[in-house]
Amino acid sequence: MRRLAIVGLGLIGSSIARGARQYGLADTIVAIDADAGVRDRVRALGLADHVTGDAAEGVAEADLVILCVPVGAVGAVAAAIEGRMKPGSVLSDVGSVKGSVVAAVAPVLSAGVAFVPGHPVAGTEYSGPDSGFSTLFSGRWCILTPPEGTDEAAVATVRRLWEGLGAIVETMTPEHHDLVLAITSHVPHLIAYNIVGTAADLEAVTQSEVIKFSAGGFRDFTRIAASDPTMWRDVFLTNKDAVLEMLGRFNEDLAALARAIRWGDGEALHDLFTRTRAIRRGIVAMGQETAEPDFGRGRPAPAAPRNDP
Ligand code: NAP
Repeated sequence: MRRLAIVGLGLIGSSIARGARQYGLADTIVAIDADAGVRDRVRALGLADHVTGDAAEGVAEADLVILCVPVGAVGAVAAAIEGRMKPGSVLSDVGSVKGSVVAAVAPVLSAGVAFVPGHPVAGTEYSGPDSGFSTLFSGRWCILTPPEGTDEAAVATVRRLWEGLGAIVETMTPEHHDLVLAITSHVPHLIAYNIVGTAADLEAVTQSEVIKFSAGGFRDFTRIAASDPTMWRDVFLTNKDAVLEMLGRFNEDLAALARAIRWGDGEALHDLFTRTRAIRRGIVAMGQETAEPDFGRGRPAPAAPRNDP
């Protein structure tokens, strides 16, 4: 495409900018961010051809505009660019929730502009323009949720961008997306936030012991629980129904596990743990995770020898 405009140059937006440049997906890249500090970093890193804080000006000549701001900010940004995109251009986004994004954008979508919502199922616990990298989406899924009747050519434009970034594209309805992601991403994040919060609050175990013995499973939760607070606040506020539905099922299953432990039902525990192990192996077999033990982390470098007299 000729001109790609990215609004919000954090982890996801800056990764798209880096990938689009590296794989030659757009002649011109326009970076739009409300934060002057982010704009300075984008200029210093050379991520775009034009950098601006004015969304209405930045999107003017773009063929594709992709909103990479927290889900709660999508409606305000869409309203700010209403009537400013050229006819025949395409608007998309990367929000982790799709139903609320569709509801927020639909009333302010300009005539002649097609909206193709998207969600790359890829990320890290880091945020900001320095945290992005061009291969973030390589071999990862990107889900598109075009409303019924969306122009096929517009869907193809967005699909081409993601395939150009190395992603595997799948389409589904926004409602189905929100239900699937509630159990595969949103509830796991909530559990991680909760368990790390509980451990931090425990009075019987000091904070330093929690950190010292973290290799026992807790450490893997802390990576997820270090994810961006604004992004995740918005995810839970905007995917409320699906998250509460999945959380209800989770609580029932947790109660059944507690009962199995209480009554010494080793068979029930063993059966479940065997099924869950097979799921992990399935994810590895699909190439979505490394088969290396401990995520291929290896052993941390030993601490430098102390030079005490
Ligand atoms: P991020 O690193 O925090 O970046 C968001 C950027 O958008 C920041 O630079 C932020 O500026 C800027 N911004 C916020 N409100 C804005 C506005 N009204 N106008 C212009 N810029 C604005 O977040 P991210 O991780 O890239 O997430 C961005 C989107 O991607 C979210 O919708 C999230 O749901 C989705 N997503 C994230 C992941 C992930 O793993 N992180 C994965 C898939 C999809 P400030 O820093 O000043 O607020």
